[in-house]
Amino acid sequence: MVDVTTFASETDTQTLTGQMIVAGTMVTGAGTEVRGFDPAAGTALEPAYRHGDLAVVEAACAAAAEAFGPYRATTSAQRAKFLEAIAANIEAAAEVLIPRAVAETGLPHARITGEVGRTCGQLRLFAAVLREGSWNGARIDSALPERTPAPRADIRQRTVPLGPVAVFGASNFPLAFSVAGGDTASALAAGCPVVVKGHDAHPGTSELVGRAVAKAVADAGLPAGTFSLLFGSGRKLGTALVTDARIKAVGFTGSRSGGTALVAAAAARPEPIPVYAEMSSINPVFLLPGALSTRGAELGAAFVGSLTMGSGQFCTNPGLVIAVDGPDLDTFVAAATEALAQAAPTPMLTPNIAKSYADGVRDLEGAADVLARGQAADSSTACQAALFSTDAAGFLASDVLQAEVFGASSLVIRCADADEVASVASKLEGQLTATVHADDSDTAEAARLLPVLELKAGRILFNGWPTGVEVGYAMVHGGPFPATSDSRTTSVGAKAIERFLRPVSYQDVPKSLLPSAIADGNPDHLWRLIDGRFTQD
Ligand code: NAP
Repeated sequence: MVDVTTFASETDTQTLTGQMIVAGTMVTGAGTEVRGFDPAAGTALEPAYRHGDLAVVEAACAAAAEAFGPYRATTSAQRAKFLEAIAANIEAAAEVLIPRAVAETGLPHARITGEVGRTCGQLRLFAAVLREGSWNGARIDSALPERTPAPRADIRQRTVPLGPVAVFGASNFPLAFSVAGGDTASALAAGCPVVVKGHDAHPGTSELVGRAVAKAVADAGLPAGTFSLLFGSGRKLGTALVTDARIKAVGFTGSRSGGTALVAAAAARPEPIPVYAEMSSINPVFLLPGALSTRGAELGAAFVGSLTMGSGQFCTNPGLVIAVDGPDLDTFVAAATEALAQAAPTPMLTPNIAKSYADGVRDLEGAADVLARGQAADSSTACQAALFSTDAAGFLASDVLQAEVFGASSLVIRCADADEVASVASKLEGQLTATVHADDSDTAEAARLLPVLELKAGRILFNGWPTGVEVGYAMVHGGPFPATSDSRTTSVGAKAIERFLRPVSYQDVPKSLLPSAIADGNPDHLWRLIDGRFTQD
């Protein structure tokens, strides 16, 4: 570690320094130089950032472990205010933050502005979750001393936070799934300090948001180790973070190979820990016959809008369309082909992602029929949209066709009949989403598909498009592998807090020692499950 300055609440949060934030201290790394890169202009951005070494991992983890006790002892109300302060600090930096994120990602101004709103909305949602209180999981089984043949003890349950959490910033959501994104917000809400590994694709955006969080930590008088932001290689610094004994859980959004590598590293630790990795999904869209016959052309145009949005760089991008072959599917395909042929080339997030996309499309060209290509890419980082078709047998026989191609590429599967549609559905890998377009006349077929899709996807939606994930209490952004490494939970929405909590039972613990969530008299005014009945008594 070199060139260290200490972060204080009055520190300027809007000037980029090229530094990491290690427990309230601004630190310049000494490793590989990385710079933000403007994929639209093809230029590298100032300032230079340098990767940290294992000393910064040690310092951040030691500080996070030290912070855990006092941080988890804060009240729900204190943590709620802290999350709201982070949101306010991000909003205060918007004038600097938005242009920087636009420059580092090539994403449109409106999209980044929306993502700032979403990020702050997520932080405020978790503040509301904390105040609402059901995350405590408060339950009481009253003592039954007279019960025969054996008396029952007084048993009470509540949740406690796991400990320091490592979060990997995502490339494709520079704000909402990055430094103060959903993983960080939910872990901080749960009472867990967070050590973020920022993504090299947007170091300036990461630093600005990191400063917004560090300022909120300092202003709230929280231990500095509550939050750190590091830069470094995934294989070296990222793996060191995940295998550090003081880290107790991991949040990740990215590739299947990266996510599974981190799951393996975490499982090989002397003390294995959970890794919540959101990885790979091709998001099937089922077009049922009634919907296709009444609005095939309309669906074709709307589908291309969802497919090409943000250069297709969404984990919920519709990469697969499944329907019974025939004239109505031809109508859909004709409209989609026409719309896609007009799709302008748009910059992808990084040269590497653009190269992976081009390689993936080349593989698809060898394995399926090309229906349409968007307008030709005018730079090596631009995305040229692509639409392919195949039949069910071809799809099921090909690993290439079943793999995610991250970007604006999709595949239409022409099925012989409804049985074949159901058969393809039952053989899909796990997905974040499954979409069904259905009219009233499709109810019987939709009813047949629904139980299949429930076992395949985290979110099932009718007559809409999967891109765009509402952040709320009922949302699931998850799903069976490879969509995620743990299908029992979600990385978007209120339930995400549960990933970083575990239940503890308190049996015959003296009343004077009981945590307030499960104390007599219900001082926190929570809804609690008492002897099998929810009550606020
Ligand atoms: P990525 O390569 O998985 O990287 C995400 C993070 O994980 C980075 O910090 C990376 O470190 C780290 N990492 C990657 N492999 C690792 C390993 N073996 N061990 C330890 N850490 C590792 O994802 P990306 O950079 O965002 O994009 C690359 C590809 O991922 C895309 O082309 C796309 O296919 C896929 N992707 C999918 C989604 C989705 O939501 N489905 C989202 C984003 C990306 P480094 O900085 O060293 O690379």
